[in-house]
Amino acid sequence: MFKHLKAVPGDPLLALIVAHQQDPNPKKIDLGVGVYKDDAGQTPILHSVKKAEAMMVENEITKSYLGVYGATEFSPIIQELLLGKDSDIIKQGRIQSTQTPGGTGALKVAADFISANLKGARLWVSDPTWGNHESIFNSAGVEVIAYPYYDSVTNGVRFDDMMTKLEAETKQGDVLLLHACCHNPTGVDLKMAHWEALTDLVNKRGLLPLIDAAYQGFGDGLEEDMAGLRYMAERVPSMLIANSFSKNFGIYRDRCGGLSVIAETGEEAKNAFSIIGQAIRANYSMPPAHGATVVHTIMSHPELRAEWETEVAEMRNRINGLREKLVIKLAASGVSKDFSFIQDQRGMFSYSGLTLEQVRRLRSEFSIYIADTGRMSVAGVSDDNIDYLCDSIAKVVG
Ligand code: PMP
Repeated sequence: MFKHLKAVPGDPLLALIVAHQQDPNPKKIDLGVGVYKDDAGQTPILHSVKKAEAMMVENEITKSYLGVYGATEFSPIIQELLLGKDSDIIKQGRIQSTQTPGGTGALKVAADFISANLKGARLWVSDPTWGNHESIFNSAGVEVIAYPYYDSVTNGVRFDDMMTKLEAETKQGDVLLLHACCHNPTGVDLKMAHWEALTDLVNKRGLLPLIDAAYQGFGDGLEEDMAGLRYMAERVPSMLIANSFSKNFGIYRDRCGGLSVIAETGEEAKNAFSIIGQAIRANYSMPPAHGATVVHTIMSHPELRAEWETEVAEMRNRINGLREKLVIKLAASGVSKDFSFIQDQRGMFSYSGLTLEQVRRLRSEFSIYIADTGRMSVAGVSDDNIDYLCDSIAKVVG
């Protein structure tokens, strides 16, 4: 039955993790993996999460199925975090939200919904984008097209090129995927003026924005990181938002996220949401409970919520602090290239501008593991390894 099948190559990032694990060099550094790490190199469970889990063990009375959309009390939490508690869209009932297994689950349901109901719609993604965007939408039968985004010369956004391409080539009903903040893999975010221009473009060309919000709180703040998304949401007729709680609650393996649909009227949102329910049923039937109960428990206890907000700020400040240190130490190491752009990037990742050859030398000569694209996971840097890292980069860059 399976004789004709050929093995496909595994994810190169996973291969990088294995290579790092097997490397005996005590100075080895893993800057490949996309999870938050503290200064000791651990991905800790947040204190607020531990406390919520203790309460949950006490209070849990059943493990019966959740509904298709998950726990009903969970959707206001998603909406308030994304849009803010005073949002008119929420007051008008124009948004419906469902719990999903991670941000990936939200994107998969969105892809199935788009494929089955918005016939002929293509998905526009940034060049580059998170690799799974293309896989998820292709597997749902949606054509994926890239728009210019990362500018390797200025380390900013090729915004004029992006607009020119989208103005010229999008069709009414196409879907425009934007990263809310902390762009993966580049760390280069849209500025407010970009969101304004893109909002006009969405309305002019009749596009459906799909916002991927996987890192809320990791850039400039829980509210600040949603400014562009909120600006656009308030001014366009419809929007889909896929959000993840993996990073900001540190509950990666519990698989918790949300998919929200905003429509012109409450009735339209409910209709779309009922079809989204069908897509969920055909995918995984119902979401897992644990992660969403953690999030709900934290958000509904003011002292836990305050502690969580402090912990998110600690993770954010550590990453932004490392960005500053990297810039200072790289300059001090005598490297010829200007790395000051690292400080302007946001989130877990940084496109370092290192070439493939430099990345390979860092790996083979210094046991420093960075993705072939030059994407560094900033959280993998620590006070213990930053000097070795900067000296090694200086040696390969010259
Ligand atoms: N979108 C982006 C841009 C991501 O980087 C990730 C996680 N790496 C996700 C979505 C999916 O997150 P989750 O682990 O919650 O499925």
